[in-house]
Amino acid sequence: MNRSVSAPLPAPRLGEPYLLTPGPLTTAYEVKEAMLRDWGSWDADFRAMTKAVCDRLLALAGDTAGDYACVPMQGSGSFSVEAMLGTFVPWDGKVLVLANGAYGLRAAETMKYLARGYTLIDKGDYMPPRGDEVAAALDADPDITHVIAIHCETSSGILNPVAEISEAVYAAGRKLLIDSMSAFGALPLNVNEIRYEAMVSSANKCIEGVPGFGFVVARKAELAAAKGNSHSLALDLNAQWAYMEKTGQWRYTPPTHVVAAFLKALELHAEEGGVAGRGARYARNRDVMVEGMRGLGFETLLKDRWLSPIIVTFFCPADPKFDFAVFYEKMKAKGFIIYPGKLTVVDSFRIGCIGRMDEHVMRKVVKAAGEALSEMGVTSAAPPAAALAERAKLAA
Ligand SMILES: *Cc1c(COP(=O)(O)O)cnc(C)c1O
Repeated sequence: MNRSVSAPLPAPRLGEPYLLTPGPLTTAYEVKEAMLRDWGSWDADFRAMTKAVCDRLLALAGDTAGDYACVPMQGSGSFSVEAMLGTFVPWDGKVLVLANGAYGLRAAETMKYLARGYTLIDKGDYMPPRGDEVAAALDADPDITHVIAIHCETSSGILNPVAEISEAVYAAGRKLLIDSMSAFGALPLNVNEIRYEAMVSSANKCIEGVPGFGFVVARKAELAAAKGNSHSLALDLNAQWAYMEKTGQWRYTPPTHVVAAFLKALELHAEEGGVAGRGARYARNRDVMVEGMRGLGFETLLKDRWLSPIIVTFFCPADPKFDFAVFYEKMKAKGFIIYPGKLTVVDSFRIGCIGRMDEHVMRKVVKAAGEALSEMGVTSAAPPAAALAERAKLAA
């Protein structure tokens, strides 16, 4: 990518380490500052803030026709995933869960708790579920009513092919739900380009807010038809939506400060050029960081075509002097909190590209990693042969 280098973003003001993690992540000072005042949840000023947040999110989803609604939900992202599944899947429905990592498996586990029918395509640690497999599974099981796909599977960092999945789902006359938690706001998920009934994301991912709520963007007709489906009083999106439509308020206590911070985060997102601008910064973060880490001898789990601009998985070096716990502490002492890996087959770690940081920071991350390796006496960052054999299974 041939982009001119922009002026560095300001460093965290309290000198705290950068969070190279997929949320909570490093936020702008202005976002934290927006939490300094208190709001009455019923007050018109706070209601206006909630409306502004929802309007902006619908605009990011490309809803120009007014066919979609945005329903925020208290709690972490998983609360919103559970709310989405419990609200839209009727008791006699059946979900095809597409899993290639921890979040897909969590969706399957959620279905178990919901005691509703589901079937699972489990591709293991990172292999992508493809459109033709989805088509075959739907063809084989006419009871399936819904499919849930993970947009960016944060446990490996893979960008799943949601467009081809959507085509397969609607060609078979079924409905698609998307967990776009770690992608929405940085990767396009426009309702005019990719068909889906509902998608879910949360405050503390690519919009760069602080944790405290999630939100579901859903077709209004689906929301209206979902009355009475929910297994849960508090997680009923139909009820939250209906109450908000009527009163402008959240049904139960909203995370007021978090909403104020999120509105500020959305303003900064717009200033940066919206989804395209945010996505470009993250892609640049990834490119600079991956190139630098490869220069040190590290290898990525995924081939370039599957690497998301959200988070990248690296194999741990084979060198016996490498110890992830020590590497982690050294990186932290140098100002960077990294993230352990989640692969079951080989040792790995992850470095996030999202949050209030840019390529200047990523260069420092690479420098810190190089220093940490030499301090540990690691002479080669090359992964074990087993790791490369694993990666060879993935198509380019
Ligand atoms: C972060 C994330 C979630 C939600 O996780 P919480 O810890 O509940 O916020 C769900 N799906 C994906 C893909 C995620 O990245």
